[in-house]
Amino acid sequence: MSVSEELFERAVKVIPGGVNSPVRAYGAIGIAPRFIDRADGCYIYDADGNQYIDYIGSWGPMILGHNFAPVRESVIKACEKGLSFGCATAIEVEMAEFICKRIPHVEMIRMVNSGTEAVMSAIRAARGFTGKNKIIKFAGCYHGHSDAMLVSAGSGVMTSGVPDSAGVPKGCTEDTMTAVYNDLESVRILLEQAKGQTAAVIVEPVGANMGVVPPVEGFLQGLRKLCDEFGVLLIFDEVITGFRLAFGGAAQYYGVTPDLVTYGKIIGAGMPVGAYGGRKEIMEMVAPAGKVYQAGTLSGNPIAMAAGLTQLKYLYDHQKIYSDLEEKGERLYGGMEALIKEKGLPYRVNHIASLGSLFFTDQEVVDYTSAKTADTSAFSDYFKGMLSRGVHMAPSQFEAMFLSMSHTDQVIDQTLYAMRDYFDNCMK
Ligand SMILES: *Cc1c(COP(=O)(O)O)cnc(C)c1O
Repeated sequence: MSVSEELFERAVKVIPGGVNSPVRAYGAIGIAPRFIDRADGCYIYDADGNQYIDYIGSWGPMILGHNFAPVRESVIKACEKGLSFGCATAIEVEMAEFICKRIPHVEMIRMVNSGTEAVMSAIRAARGFTGKNKIIKFAGCYHGHSDAMLVSAGSGVMTSGVPDSAGVPKGCTEDTMTAVYNDLESVRILLEQAKGQTAAVIVEPVGANMGVVPPVEGFLQGLRKLCDEFGVLLIFDEVITGFRLAFGGAAQYYGVTPDLVTYGKIIGAGMPVGAYGGRKEIMEMVAPAGKVYQAGTLSGNPIAMAAGLTQLKYLYDHQKIYSDLEEKGERLYGGMEALIKEKGLPYRVNHIASLGSLFFTDQEVVDYTSAKTADTSAFSDYFKGMLSRGVHMAPSQFEAMFLSMSHTDQVIDQTLYAMRDYFDNCMK
């Protein structure tokens, strides 16, 4: 038995499903998950000492590669002063100033501890500001696991086959309306239906939790127009796209300005950080400035801020990273597309910049319904085949691949070679 298998046996006895977040369990794959011991650059090493090229990147934070030295050193240095004070610190001011100065639509920002918290709080602020309750989200978009957002919530929920979640009272989701991604008409219909009752439309500006589903031309611009027409706030959930597509996230990439934005993942560089921010008049509703209550014992934790701010500063000072990531994306995902075509496989590659997904379907994937046409058992075979060839990807058809700056051309080509080898052999 491998060390990972032994650990998993122990884990399932004391942790629900053996993991602290569902997708880690390899539930759709049917083998014990790899327990990770350490990671460096684009490589991750399991408890048995196996090395893999990693395309999870901690689900996004590791945009500069694992164990990035400046981030690690900033954490060690911050630790020497104490781990947490539960009081205001200078680095929180620096973090907020750094972001507000560089991202025009973020006039004020509040730090929290996860993407889930960021979204939950942004929705509360939107409701407090507008005095309205209804929220429109999109099927297949994931916004964390707060009660109101667990409706058609994408990857984790899709893979475990649970439609929504037990334990969420109907009352918590009755103000959540679900529209169709990339379909402006579906949004207009809901806005008409709930005229005068809708606080906000929340969207992943690039769908990345039903596999990667980029917005079609005009979709985000159209959302902005609809929100203005109906007097509704537009929230971009940039937990994945923020600081990834561009420093200013999808808002900058597509040139569409949201009223509120949520961050997570990259903003903490691997530490538990989330944030929400946006227009000053909305953010001033948040306590203690205003009447929307939101708090956190460890929010703005100095170690987490040190890690996050170091990474954000590095990204801002080296913006060539973003064109480099585009090129890496073209090499990997373009290479996958070419391979699929050459082999005559009826599959689809969706990608944008450093994010990509191979969908095991012959249909164009533009929304939740088309994503669900993917053959998850074919994905499961592919995942196992790639893992045995030293490539570590998200263990779900409905998650993205994350490229980082540490994925060299050589590593990308090695990945493509492993894929070619897998498809050559699985088709025999
Ligand atoms: C990961 C994710 C979240 C939730 O963030 P957590 O830190 O896991 O709570 C929210 N929204 C999007 C778009 C995400 O990808």
